[in-house]
Amino acid sequence: MIEQIKNRERIARRLEPDNDARAQLVNNVTAYAQQFLEGTADAPAYVAPDDEHRASFDASISNKGIDLATLLATLDQHVDTPGVNPTSGRFMGYIPGGGLFYSALGDFLAAVTNRYAGVHFASPGAVQVENALLEWMAEVVGYPATSAGNLTSGGSIANLIGIVTARDSHSIKADQVKRAVVYTTEHAHHSVDKALRIAGLGACVRRTIPVDEHYRMQAPALSDAIERDRQEGRHPWLIIGSAGTTNTGSVDPLDAIADVAAANDLWFHVDGAYGAFFALCDEGRQILRGMERSDSIVMDPHKTLFLPYGTGAVLVKDRQQLYESHHSHADYMQDVIEPDQMLSPADVSPELTKHFRGLRLWLPLKLLGVAPFRAALEEKLLLARYFHERLQEIDGFEVGPAPDLSVVTYRYVPARGDPNEFNRRLVEAIQADGRIFVTSTLLDGTFVLRLAVVSFRTHLADIDETIDVLMRTARRLEQTR
Ligand SMILES: *Cc1c(COP(=O)(O)O)cnc(C)c1O
Repeated sequence: MIEQIKNRERIARRLEPDNDARAQLVNNVTAYAQQFLEGTADAPAYVAPDDEHRASFDASISNKGIDLATLLATLDQHVDTPGVNPTSGRFMGYIPGGGLFYSALGDFLAAVTNRYAGVHFASPGAVQVENALLEWMAEVVGYPATSAGNLTSGGSIANLIGIVTARDSHSIKADQVKRAVVYTTEHAHHSVDKALRIAGLGACVRRTIPVDEHYRMQAPALSDAIERDRQEGRHPWLIIGSAGTTNTGSVDPLDAIADVAAANDLWFHVDGAYGAFFALCDEGRQILRGMERSDSIVMDPHKTLFLPYGTGAVLVKDRQQLYESHHSHADYMQDVIEPDQMLSPADVSPELTKHFRGLRLWLPLKLLGVAPFRAALEEKLLLARYFHERLQEIDGFEVGPAPDLSVVTYRYVPARGDPNEFNRRLVEAIQADGRIFVTSTLLDGTFVLRLAVVSFRTHLADIDETIDVLMRTARRLEQTR
């Protein structure tokens, strides 16, 4: 038996590189990262995947390992090239991501030291780091210090946690779901629908409140809808406002909605996954006024704090309710003793064992301070406005309302033919070109393009190039019809 054990040990020890091997591995991976980042300035924002490459990519797992150089070459060719390139400053589709290098270092350290960030008992330091970040976020959005929250994998799970807490706070049990009414606009993010369904609330009555010409919820219409539902015997309980919709970047009138929520005793949840961090800027704070009066709020550091994908956040004012909706107990956890007041992530989320995702945010914030983040967000607001003004000056282009935050909608109106069809072709031509990446949406049946200025790598030169590519591509399409 000892022989057998030792035999296995010999092979299992390959899992632990020695000092020299480790240094070599780190060198090679660092060299790859450097080369990748040196290339980002000129790399295309989109590379259409081709079938040949797809067919030649062997992603399968086998018993025997291969060398790192081969593996990095494979990554380069098959993973880090085809598709959209969120590390490019000219990627402005959907809601762009970021990829702060400082966060990559935080992830590296978190993975090496592998602190158990789920419960305070296991890593008081890691939990303190995450709670300090949540306290800072509470301050940013104007929540009281007594609020609690969780760093999630993204905005979708953050919305789920907020909605589950709201459900329990209003005691929406299975037999009442069909009478219970939720109020949103048509621009609410689809993760809200998912969250409602996952939370067992799929059968709730949904009211889509009309929006104004800026695509913002009409608060008087909300008030009327609640009144009507009450009179007709239904049970209004939840309003979901957007602090920056994905479609148009519009911010609902949060202060007026908070008035309606307070007057009717409804839970007010704000989805600020994209927009809430603009509260770091004076101007953003003005636009977002009223969000501090909500009961729960979602914000995504992997959007507007420029982190690599994998970090969202939810804050809830009613700390006790957040805890009661999410904590549980097990005998094998009986040695875990938590100090009063110190909430562990596992008590306020569906997760137990989790990535120490706080370090990827804490490290850059501690190293750099808040100032460069604030400046970058102010830059995004200005760039969006600049694009909106510049594009209007170009013949053929038509812009949507002045941006509330950093999303601009626009389209090209051709001299002849169906504008929807033309703009669909315009998006396709721009994506095929690949220098910039923009996406489209439908507003009241009209096909429009969007520009989302969110990446920390998007600067004035990128916007100028974007305008140039848009103009030339539209002209070319008009001439070749
Ligand atoms: C991105 C986004 C979400 C979803 O967040 P994920 O991090 O993608 O899960 C929710 N709401 C809004 C407004 C968003 O922009």
